Amino acid sequence: MQRIEHIYINGQFVTPHGEEWFDLFNPSTEEVIGKVRLGDEVDAERAIAAAKAAFPAWSRTSREERVAVLRRMHKAIAAREDELMEAIVLEYGAPLSRGRWMATYPADVIAQAIDALEAFAFEEEAGTARVILTPVGVAGLITPWNSNAGFICNKLATALSAGCTAVIKPSEMSALQTQVVIEALHEAGLPPGVFNVVNGRGDVVGETIARHTDVAKISFTGSSAVGQHLITAGADTMKRVTLELGGKSPTVVLDDADFTAIMPLVLTAGFLNSGQACIAGTRILVPRERLAEFEAVATAAVAQVKSGDPRNPDTAIGPMVSAKQWERVQGYIRLGAEEGARILAGGEGRPDDLDRGWFVKPTIFTDANNQMRIAREEIFGPVLTLIPYDGEADAIVIANDTRYGLSAVVFGQDLTRCERVARQIDAGRVLINTLSHEPRAPFGGFKHSGMGREMGKWGLGAYLEPKTLLMA
Ligand code: NAD
Repeated sequence: MQRIEHIYINGQFVTPHGEEWFDLFNPSTEEVIGKVRLGDEVDAERAIAAAKAAFPAWSRTSREERVAVLRRMHKAIAAREDELMEAIVLEYGAPLSRGRWMATYPADVIAQAIDALEAFAFEEEAGTARVILTPVGVAGLITPWNSNAGFICNKLATALSAGCTAVIKPSEMSALQTQVVIEALHEAGLPPGVFNVVNGRGDVVGETIARHTDVAKISFTGSSAVGQHLITAGADTMKRVTLELGGKSPTVVLDDADFTAIMPLVLTAGFLNSGQACIAGTRILVPRERLAEFEAVATAAVAQVKSGDPRNPDTAIGPMVSAKQWERVQGYIRLGAEEGARILAGGEGRPDDLDRGWFVKPTIFTDANNQMRIAREEIFGPVLTLIPYDGEADAIVIANDTRYGLSAVVFGQDLTRCERVARQIDAGRVLINTLSHEPRAPFGGFKHSGMGREMGKWGLGAYLEPKTLLMA
């Protein structure tokens, strides 16, 4: 049983003023594996004060000084990869292959932030003016549970690159990962106050950060509902916001696609991160005249997808993170059937060989349409919906008929047509016949999937305020 008793303020591990303890679970066994003491408003205020005090000096550091600090962060986080991996599998239930990716990603994103910082133009000419990009101030960084360590490291490395200092409110459900990250960053010897971490509830610590006068910017990854709320909460203090929110991403299968060849990618996109991924391709758009054929190939393929013990190397889908999340996913599976969709694979309940743990059967609905709630709402579990379309134009209409716009995948053999379709999809990222990732490109969403972008120069620019200088 791990007890996480401290938060991190001004370069020190300190006992929170808050006295509430929050249970941490192993979602594979439903057992309590630890407890974290949560900070409260007073702790959030202290952290903000420390970040504010550290800002003048940090904002004046040179590019070289920032790069040197980021390199130390990178080294310290990379050295903790195995520890992070263990925390991620234990408290989040990521299957081994995914867990390894999630354990290496935090160091990788710091390395990418270093690349972006080294190449970034902080000053440029505009006509007769010089434009200087200056750090916005203290940044409030709020992360979700589905990739907590990665989001902390990405947001923090970018904020520091810009010359901002930070207050981090990690997911309260991911305290083991957070602890590994804080210990590593502490070892990296950052100047006191440039980053501060307060475990706590969203509506307490998160809300204090979101409304505080001394916080200039919020970078938030999480649900669209909370993201929308943060815009309102930050309005009084005119917060700059970057929001990375939810998705209901389409996978558009064109009529010349080779179903057998693409099916592993279709299912990987849909079941990504055990279905708990903002970019998961959960709406699969299939040409109506080939729907039966697609269903047959999908049924055979999904039978090979194992949902279970994340430590089993054959497992593709681990447990849902919490009992609440498991109930939510079960509710959507029930709802899909009630709405008239047909269950092609999976269904309610745990996989047959499991009697505990928040495991879900990989589930595929068919005979669905894009107006059903299972096609419109983010389920955040391994539940996919096949939606038939009639012709390319119809596929594009359905793909875009959603409040979200984070990501999309297009599959087909005619690359010219794939690109034509891709260009018409309203999403921050569209992949053609691949699930590859390009960290130097901007990441973020259209519509309710977010506001602003992370990664590369776009991510860095979001922590900067342009100042125009004109001289006689
Ligand atoms: P969530 O919105 O419930 O919580 C995210 C964070 O916000 C947590 O740290 C939480 O404590 C905090 N929070 C909650 N209420 C708050 C408030 N009033 N003020 C300030 N902070 C508050 O999301 P979650 O369940 O942790 O994560 C899942 C969601 O995140 C999904 O919707 C998913 O699509 C989204 N997500 C998006 C991306 C992306 O890059 N677009 C990536 C991962 C996850």
